[in-house]
Amino acid sequence: MDVAFLPQTIIQPRMQIAMIIVSAGRGQRAGGDVSKQMRLLAGKPVFKWSLDVSLAHPDVTQCVLVVPKGEETTYREHCPDHVYVVSGGETRTASVRAGLAACSVGDHDLVLIHDAARPGLTKTNISALTQAMLEADAAAPAIAVADALKRQTGGSVQDVDRTNLFRIQTPQAFRLGSIKRALESEKTYVDDLAAVEDQGGSVVLTEGSEQLAKITYPEDHARLEALLMPISPTPRLGTGYDVHALETGDQVTICGVSIPHTQSLVGHSDADVAWHALTDAILGAAALGDIGDHFPPSDPQWKGADSAVFLAHAVKLVETKGWALASCDITIICEAPKVKPHRDAMRTRTADITGLPLDAISVKATTSEGLGFTGRREGIAAQASAVLAPLTLSN
Ligand code: MG
Repeated sequence: MDVAFLPQTIIQPRMQIAMIIVSAGRGQRAGGDVSKQMRLLAGKPVFKWSLDVSLAHPDVTQCVLVVPKGEETTYREHCPDHVYVVSGGETRTASVRAGLAACSVGDHDLVLIHDAARPGLTKTNISALTQAMLEADAAAPAIAVADALKRQTGGSVQDVDRTNLFRIQTPQAFRLGSIKRALESEKTYVDDLAAVEDQGGSVVLTEGSEQLAKITYPEDHARLEALLMPISPTPRLGTGYDVHALETGDQVTICGVSIPHTQSLVGHSDADVAWHALTDAILGAAALGDIGDHFPPSDPQWKGADSAVFLAHAVKLVETKGWALASCDITIICEAPKVKPHRDAMRTRTADITGLPLDAISVKATTSEGLGFTGRREGIAAQASAVLAPLTLSN
């Protein structure tokens, strides 16, 4: 159908869009222990950048993620339930076929096929492709070649005219029925556009961008991270609160510092009330539950435990989720012992465990003016806040 002849009064039904994100390659050339698609970029895995943009686009009705065989569970942990996670094949074409098989949109609806290793996808890219598909069988973002081109043959070098030469990016857009038919043959294509062109289909190019570049080598990761950093997640704030009862004794441990006192704190572990509050604040900032979830008081192995173990665990755990502890602020609420003489030692011990610089660690103390359980010296309370920043390390 040629849309140019449609009367203006006809409102076209909204096209449904399925987004297939192909993340099935191993990405050996990009270096690192994990695949390039799973590596953290400005705080979240590379593949998740495109997935989040697709999920947020109002016209995208289905997202299909094609992943390496055996890594389905790992990927699912990062995805909302309504994302289809399917196993890829031995070749890219086989992986695309697997993604197409999972699409539930109609044959005339659109399917966008995207490389997970291109994290710079925007909603504008998706909308431009949707628009272009009103008059084409396939569409893809492209960038005109800007550098001079030469062809080397034997010992000689010749100029190549770069007019009308483009670098093709993804996502590439198709109608579901036509790309399925185009890929029915056993042929392996350089990309999905080639399959449609092979069937005589028309292709329209939309505006690509450097931000849509593919991560192939380690330096590509750092370059894209710098480009995407301004839209990286905002910092997260968490708070924690804890109380431990006092009984007759000879010392209390607060922020890892043992302070001689006429009372001791009661608890299953070393009862370090301040580090417990801080551990909860760190876990809370990343929505990772609380200290009791990770170290149940019912578990005998934590009897008398050094709370440094809990704190260090929380710091490491948020790092695995793409966050780095950036700062913390602790308030200890008690009538006695006096905290101030020990404050710097507490900050130093907290720095030892968290890896934070001293100027990012605050320890404060207050009394409750003789009121309540802290005022009656029945217990010590502590509250803490923790700020997490996106982990920007490129490893
Ligand atoms: Mg506690």
